Amino acid sequence: MKARFAGTLSTVLTLALFAPAPLALAQPLTPEQKLFREIYQELVEINTTDSAGDTTRASEAMAARLKAGGIPADDIKVIVPPGGPKKGNLVARLKGSGAKKPILLLAHLDVVEAKREDWARDPFKLIEENGYFYARGAADDKAMASAIVANMIRMKKEGFVPNRDIILALTADEEIIPSKFSGIEYLLKNHRSLIDAEFALNEGGGGHIDKNGKYLYHGVLAAEKVFQTYHLEVTNPGGHSSRPSKDNAIYHLADALSRLGKFDFPFKLTPVTRAYFERAAALESGQTAADMTAILRNPPDPQALARLSMMPAYNAQFRTTCVATMLDAGHATNALPQRAHGVVNCRVIPGESVAEVEKTLTRVLADAKISVKPDGEPVLAPPAPLTPEIMRPVEQISAQMWPGVPVIAAMLTGATDGRFLANAGIPTYGITGQFRDADGGGVHGLNERLRVKSLYEGQEFLYRLVKTLSSPQ
Ligand SMILES: [Zn+2]
Repeated sequence: MKARFAGTLSTVLTLALFAPAPLALAQPLTPEQKLFREIYQELVEINTTDSAGDTTRASEAMAARLKAGGIPADDIKVIVPPGGPKKGNLVARLKGSGAKKPILLLAHLDVVEAKREDWARDPFKLIEENGYFYARGAADDKAMASAIVANMIRMKKEGFVPNRDIILALTADEEIIPSKFSGIEYLLKNHRSLIDAEFALNEGGGGHIDKNGKYLYHGVLAAEKVFQTYHLEVTNPGGHSSRPSKDNAIYHLADALSRLGKFDFPFKLTPVTRAYFERAAALESGQTAADMTAILRNPPDPQALARLSMMPAYNAQFRTTCVATMLDAGHATNALPQRAHGVVNCRVIPGESVAEVEKTLTRVLADAKISVKPDGEPVLAPPAPLTPEIMRPVEQISAQMWPGVPVIAAMLTGATDGRFLANAGIPTYGITGQFRDADGGGVHGLNERLRVKSLYEGQEFLYRLVKTLSSPQ
C-alpha cells in the first residue's frame, strides 16, 4: 500500500493504554505455524520488485503450495497478462456450499525496490532477529499474502466446508501507479467471475503498538480517499527580464497557489469517520478528546474544528485536501517566464463529487489565466458499510485475542488496491490482524520488519475471522 494507516494515525493518537506488553513468542510453533513460516519465507525470498523481480514466479510457488495442500488444480489459476511475463497473478478458491456469495481475500505480491547496499541485511533473505522478521515485504504485503495461502491449506486439511466460496487473489503491481500490469485491474476487467465476491478483505488495516510494546488499538479500514491530481499552467509571451511587467506567469501561479494554501475545503464526516471520531474521543484525553466530541455536534464547534484542523492526520479525515506538490517555470535566468506549471494533488472524501472539487479548486485559484487539467480519471471508491455481519466478528475475535484493545474503523487517506474493488462494487475492508510498530516498521523504507509474534497473530486472526464469516451464524 502506498500510504499507511499506521503513518497517518499513530503519530497523532496518544491513546490510553489497556493491554499488557506483548512478550516474545515462548511456545514452540504448531504444525500450522511451521508450514506458514515456510510459505512466508519462500514468498519473501522470491524477489518481486519491478526492476528485477517476478510475481509470476511467486504466483507459481504459491500455486504449488496450494496444490500440495490439497486444493484441486482446477481451482488454482496463475494468470499472466499479455506482454507481462513477470507480472503474473494467482487466484485460488476453496469451494463452499454456495449458500452465500463468496469472500475475496486480497494481497499484493509485488514489493517496493530495496538495495542491498542500503540495508543492514540482505532484503531478500528472511532474517529472524530479536523478535522481528526483517526483509523487504516482511510486512507489506507478504505477511498477509502468505497467511491467506497457509490458512486456505489449513482449512482444506481440516475438511472445513465454508458456506460460501473463499477466494484468494495475489496480485502484481499494487505499488506502481499507474501500471499497465496492475493485477487487480487486470483481473476485474478480464476475469471478474473468478474474483467476484460479496466483499473483500485486504491490507491497510491492522493494529498499532507503541514504542513500549503496548497494544493501542486495532484498526479496520472501511474507506479510502479518492486520489486526483491536477496540472496548473500559465503561459505568457515573456520577454527580456530587464523590462518586466506585472503580468508574469510565475506570479500568477504563485499568487493562486498561496490562495489555495490558505483555503480549507468544507468539514464533512461520513459514517466511517464519524464512528472513528466517536471511538477516538473515548481513547484520547484532555482538549483533543473534548474537541473530537465537539466536532460531532451539529453544527460542529468552530474552535474545536480549528484546533483539530491543525493536526494533519485528523484534518485529512474530515475534509477533502488539495495541496501543491510540484512547480516548474521559466527557461532562462535573464528571461521573463513564458510558462509556469504546478501540480496540485487532491484527496477527496469518498462520496464527494470530484467535479465539484475541481470547480472549487478553480474558484479558489481565482485566475482565468491558469488552466486546470485533471491528470487521468479518478477511481471512485464508495466506503464499505460497517455492517454487524463484518464488525461483530471482528470485535469478538479481537477481544478474544487482545482483550481490552479497542477496534477502530477509519478511512485511509492514502490508497490501496481496495479502491479498484470498491469502484467495481465489491466493498473492501482493510483487516489484517497484524499489529505493527508506531514508526511504520520500515515499510517502503529501509530494514522493513514485522514482529514475529505479529506475524502469527495475524495468521490466527484471519483464520478465525474468515472461518466465522463463512460459517452459518
Ligand atoms: Zn501494500
